[in-house]
Amino acid sequence: MIATKGYAAPVAKAPLAPFNFERREPGPHDVQFDILFCGVCHSDLHQVEDEWGHGIFPMVPGHEIVGRITKVGSHVKKFKVGDLAGVGCLVDSCRHCENCEEGLEQYCLNGVSPTYNGYEQDKKTPTFGGYSNLIVVHEDFALKVSEKLDLAAVAPLLCAGITTYSPLRHWKVGKGHKVAVLGLGGLGHMAVKFAVSFGAEVTMLSTSPSKKADAERLGAHKFLLTKDPESLKAARGSFDFIIDTVSAEHDYNQYLSLLRTNGVMICVGAPPTPAAVAAFSLIAGRKSLAGSMIGGIPETQEMLDYCAEHNIVSDIEVIKMDYIQEAYARMLKADVRYRFVIDMSTL
Ligand code: NAP
Ligand code: ZN
Ligand code: ZN
Repeated sequence: MIATKGYAAPVAKAPLAPFNFERREPGPHDVQFDILFCGVCHSDLHQVEDEWGHGIFPMVPGHEIVGRITKVGSHVKKFKVGDLAGVGCLVDSCRHCENCEEGLEQYCLNGVSPTYNGYEQDKKTPTFGGYSNLIVVHEDFALKVSEKLDLAAVAPLLCAGITTYSPLRHWKVGKGHKVAVLGLGGLGHMAVKFAVSFGAEVTMLSTSPSKKADAERLGAHKFLLTKDPESLKAARGSFDFIIDTVSAEHDYNQYLSLLRTNGVMICVGAPPTPAAVAAFSLIAGRKSLAGSMIGGIPETQEMLDYCAEHNIVSDIEVIKMDYIQEAYARMLKADVRYRFVIDMSTL
C-alpha cells in the first residue's frame, strides 16, 4: 500500500482537516500520478455536508484531478511516466452492462465507482478523491491531458466541463438555437463557453448583477437578471434550451415559462430538495424537463481534445489547501469567479 496525504471531512458537516490514508500499489493496468491541481466542485460541498444522504466518512472530496504520471503497470498502453493525466468523477464501472458498452459509464447499471464517496467495484473498498497528493487508477479511467493548456485551468474540465459539454452535444445544440444558461458558477461559465463555441445564441440568467460584464466576456450575447420580474416576463417563450446549473432550491416553473414550444430545460444542477413542477408548465407548449449527469470516458476525452483544439479552459482562482473552508463559504454566497482550484503543492 502507498501512504497518501489528503484533506478529509472526518464526519458529515465537519470542517476538512489533514488526513493520512493508503492507496493500492498500481496493478498491471493501473497508473499512479502525482496530483498537481484539483478543482472544487459544488458537489464536493453538497457531499461533505451530506445533503444528498448516504455519505461515506471520512470523505476526501475532489473529482477534477490533474497531474503527472509517476508509475505505470506492466500492461499499461495509454500512458508513460512523465505524461499528464486527468481523473474526473469516475474511477471504475462494471464495463459490461449496455451503458458501459456504449461508453456511458456514468450510467452504469451495476453501479459506477465514483472518484470519492463511493466504493471500488469490489463494493467494499472506499474511494478517496483528489484533495490528496497522489492517485492510483485503472488506465481506462484516466484521461489524456494536453501539454498546450494551463494545467490548473484544465482541472475543472474534468467535471464542470464534461457536465455541460455532454448535454449540449446530446441535444445537438448549435447554430440557430437560443440557449439560456441558468446560474453563473463553475458549471454555468463552462456552459456559456461551450454553447458559444458550438454557435448558439447564449443568454445568461443570473441572480448576480455584478456578473454581467463577466458573462459578456465569457461570450454570452445577452444577460438577464432573474430577480427582475419585468425582464423575466419579457423573456417568456424565447429559448430552445435552458441549461440549469443552480445548486440551491429554485422555482422550475418560472424558468420553464421561458422556453419556446418544444423547448427543453436540462437540469445539471442538483439541489438537495425536490422541486414542485406543475404539469401545466410542461403541457402548455409541449416542453421537456430533462437531466444529465457528467459524461462517459470517451466523451470526456473528446471534450478535453476539443478544448485543446479550441483553446478552452476554465476561469479559475488558484487557492491553497487550507483555504478550502473559505472557498466553500464563498461558493455558498455565489462568489466564485468561476472555479476554485487547489494547488496541491500546498497540501
Ligand atoms: P457553483 O459554482 O456554486 O454555481 C452555482 C450558481 O448557481 C451560483 O454561482 C449562482 O449563480 C447560482 N445560484 C446559487 N444559488 C442560487 C439560488 N438560490 N437561486 C438561483 N441561483 C442560484 O456550483 P457548480 O459547481 O457550478 O455546481 C452547480 C450544481 O451542479 C451543484 O448542485 C452541483 O452539485 C451540480 N453538479 C451536477 C453535475 C451533474 O453531473 N449533473 C456535475 C457537477 C455538479 P448566479 O450568481 O449567476 O445566480
Ligand atoms: Zn463535480
Ligand atoms: Zn456498467
